[in-house]
Amino acid sequence: MEPKDSAFSRRGVLAGGVALAAQSGTLLAQSKAAAPGRKFRGWVSRGAGPGRTTLQDLTLRPISGRQIVVRTEATNLCYSNSSDVLGLPPPGVPPAAKDAPPRAVPPAFLAMSRMALIQGHGGVGTVEAVGPEVRRVQVGDRVCVSGTPQCGSCYQCLRGRADMCQFLGRQGPNDLVPIADMRDGTPVYANSHIGGLAELMVTFEEWVVPVFTKASAADLGMVCSCVSVAGLGCTASQVLADVGIGSIVAVVGCGPLGLSAIQGARIAGASTIIGIDPIRVRREVALKVGATHVLDPNVEGDKLVEKVRELSNGPNNRLWAGGRDSGGLLGGAGADFVVEAVGADRAKPKLEAGPDPTGILPIQQAYMMCAPGGHIVTTSLPTGNVTLPAVVFTIGGRTHHAGQCGGANPMRDIPRFVELLDKKQFDAKSLATTIVPIEGMLDAYQQVIDRTTVTALMTA
Ligand SMILES: [Zn+2]
Ligand SMILES: [Zn+2]
Repeated sequence: MEPKDSAFSRRGVLAGGVALAAQSGTLLAQSKAAAPGRKFRGWVSRGAGPGRTTLQDLTLRPISGRQIVVRTEATNLCYSNSSDVLGLPPPGVPPAAKDAPPRAVPPAFLAMSRMALIQGHGGVGTVEAVGPEVRRVQVGDRVCVSGTPQCGSCYQCLRGRADMCQFLGRQGPNDLVPIADMRDGTPVYANSHIGGLAELMVTFEEWVVPVFTKASAADLGMVCSCVSVAGLGCTASQVLADVGIGSIVAVVGCGPLGLSAIQGARIAGASTIIGIDPIRVRREVALKVGATHVLDPNVEGDKLVEKVRELSNGPNNRLWAGGRDSGGLLGGAGADFVVEAVGADRAKPKLEAGPDPTGILPIQQAYMMCAPGGHIVTTSLPTGNVTLPAVVFTIGGRTHHAGQCGGANPMRDIPRFVELLDKKQFDAKSLATTIVPIEGMLDAYQQVIDRTTVTALMTA
């Protein structure tokens, strides 16, 4: 005989089971909302060189399992995706000499370039249909399709490093599934299981985070973009580095990622925030969104590290009074936290170019401007190898953190970042300086690669 009002009665457990079954029944019902045969437009990339990306009329394929169809509201035009969209050579590959033998192209790269692929590795929108196994979201939910997936059950997710979720490595030519067909019957795939440059994104549950907000498509698209999630992740998610109140933060590179890191540092309570960028307009935005100082690496030249150390001295250099000793690289001067967000140039910028197109020098400078005992978070895609003074590296007390999306835990942190937007602590508008409808995507991407805009969003 069961105790009448036990919270753990068999009846209670059974009732819970019924509730779960009911929920799954709802979701099964939802899966019928999938609309195979639905027409939509998407930018499809195929082949090599400029002109490889064209706007196509597509027909949606049926979905199954953990697949989700999202009606796109906005997608960030990420700089790192620009070579694939605009057909530029990958970074670090100099143009071949006229009579040079053809280069060996990695087979996976070749296979991907031959597939009809919708580029774009993130976006926001509204769920239009879900497969029968989807639990995380429901039809009608607004969602962020995160550039970094989070399955919750792989080795990395279980160890608190959702930013390194192993599903991230399952995006090769043999992992992608056709999601639509072109008019001539060519199957079309979604890059990164996302394919943000289209009116519909067909993705998997692991990539989707529900967000409950009334924010505009562009503002939401900005805060949920790979770059803003990474920037806020570095300074506000407390996974890689825990920026404390009153700390000194230097951000090397004030593109959309660095400008989001600056905002995260402000929100986390940093007292000194130094933004470093060669582009004057970006330094001005840095000051607007939270930097207390800005530096131009072209003006500072070899003295950049020294300048950051000077700015980090604080009001007191007396050792018995908690002061920082600025003497030597093992002293106390330097930023407590450094975010490196530069990377390699994919094309020559039309505004002020930085001192090193490979992005290596800014990493070395970021390491050296960090205070002993401080933390460096790197976020960029540079080309080449980094050399550092070995003794500073081995016993200099600096801790280097590397990760995807600034270490952010997508399901936990993206909703928190959206809260920061809704409570007006995060300024999305100053970052999303170009917003275009789907037809304007290529022109907007050209502005991104020229660096004449901070970043661009395509709304659909
Ligand atoms: Zn990106
Ligand atoms: Zn995982």
